[in-house]
Amino acid sequence: MFYTDTRDSSVQISFRQAVLDGMSTQTGGLYIPVSYPGLPKPFLNKIPEPSFRDIAFEIARLYAGREIPDGDLEAIIADAYPFFSPVVPLDTVTYSLELFHGPTCAFKDFGARFMARCMSWFNRDEKAPLHILVATSGDTGSAVGSAFHQVPGLDVTILYPAGKISPLQEKQLSTFDGNVCALKVNGTFDDCQRLVKTAFTDSDLRKRFRLSSANSINISRLLPQSFYYMYASLVVRNRAWRDSKIENPAIIVSVPSGNFGNLTSGLIARAMGAPIAGFIAATNANRTVPDWIATGEYAPRPSVQTLSNAMDVGAPSNFERIHAMYDLDRARALFAAYWLDDLGTLEAIKACHTRTGYILDPHGAVAWQAWSDIRNGAMEHLVKALSNPDAAPRKADEKPASGLMPNIPEWAGAVVKKQAVGIVLETAHPAKFGDTVKLACGREPSLPDRLERVLHLPDRAVSMEADYNQFKYWMRTNLQA
Ligand SMILES: *Cc1c(COP(=O)(O)O)cnc(C)c1O
Repeated sequence: MFYTDTRDSSVQISFRQAVLDGMSTQTGGLYIPVSYPGLPKPFLNKIPEPSFRDIAFEIARLYAGREIPDGDLEAIIADAYPFFSPVVPLDTVTYSLELFHGPTCAFKDFGARFMARCMSWFNRDEKAPLHILVATSGDTGSAVGSAFHQVPGLDVTILYPAGKISPLQEKQLSTFDGNVCALKVNGTFDDCQRLVKTAFTDSDLRKRFRLSSANSINISRLLPQSFYYMYASLVVRNRAWRDSKIENPAIIVSVPSGNFGNLTSGLIARAMGAPIAGFIAATNANRTVPDWIATGEYAPRPSVQTLSNAMDVGAPSNFERIHAMYDLDRARALFAAYWLDDLGTLEAIKACHTRTGYILDPHGAVAWQAWSDIRNGAMEHLVKALSNPDAAPRKADEKPASGLMPNIPEWAGAVVKKQAVGIVLETAHPAKFGDTVKLACGREPSLPDRLERVLHLPDRAVSMEADYNQFKYWMRTNLQA
């Protein structure tokens, strides 16, 4: 597979270069595969569905197979995924895809662990160390730190916004020793991202150091996230009739989104043949993409702080990839767009717990509420309202169509006819946001052992202003050339 640049389609580079460079230093664009090959039909139609690892291998070899031999790729996958992504039914038409069973209890483990092993494989004959820079709004830092910790020939610098991530998240990314260092930046996530992006375009630094990124801008984080979309959609396709008595339901995936890397991975899986009818782009108050779907205007903005802080992104970098894959009309056909404020998020955690006994984290809660509203009348309401502008105005006591944006995707009919089932991506373990969960439903989920352990480690973060010169000075004095 070759990779091209979102800002220059004449570019053609290898997987190796796309992985090690992270993004284009010439154009500032992002790398995307030149095509999205379909998986063979007999493989997709196997009953029971293939295992997660078999799916991961079949997808990975299409994107990396010319460069990494099959045996090594298999070993990378086995080593990256000693954990699982269970599909848990919440009601007859709703499934939670639990993506928090990795070491840091969030879905970013899937991308980060694959990326770390690919980088390490590509770096195996190099003399100079590879320096990974990563800006995080919450879970990226810990996932990347954990994925690279003690990997030889590499080091990681994590930049995170002071006071804008949970105390547990902070512990998870600031307590590494050895090759992983955390910088606590006095600013927002967007500031952290700007510092990293500026470093990548700084020719002076690039001459001195081998730099690479590990944000969701790195394509080797996005490709592996497509594994679980493929897996979950095949699982749900094979069991939906038993659960819902709906034949061949339209499968809708609700994605709690911030930087939109996860949703981009869903688009990749769909393009490769995953039986997914469409997506819900679900955000918190950082509603840049829902506004784009609704108005057609893309207006990045400063991020605002919310309870689902790993989604606090006002200028999502993967928008550029989504837009390179699909224009506005096509995006409108594929996505419902939905946003939810903090109060709605708390109510969602409570409502899901009351109705199903299942405890959501604040990120998954946004996605769950979006699917719940859409299937329980919000989409039908929208279809009626938009198809008949003269219809009587909505009664005052009627619940407004909450955060569903006025856009009717091509799968709306299936939802209205009750022919759809939803997969909600549960992107973090609820115990990572114990206070919020307790506030919402009165119960505090217990910490898994792997989280309990980091609470007792000493904090090693270095404080810094959101100032590029200070950051650059730190790099020049602390990183090995
Ligand atoms: C990062 C993150 C998200 C948002 O994912 P994007 O790929 O940035 O859209 C959602 N939930 C959790 C728990 C996260 O850590």
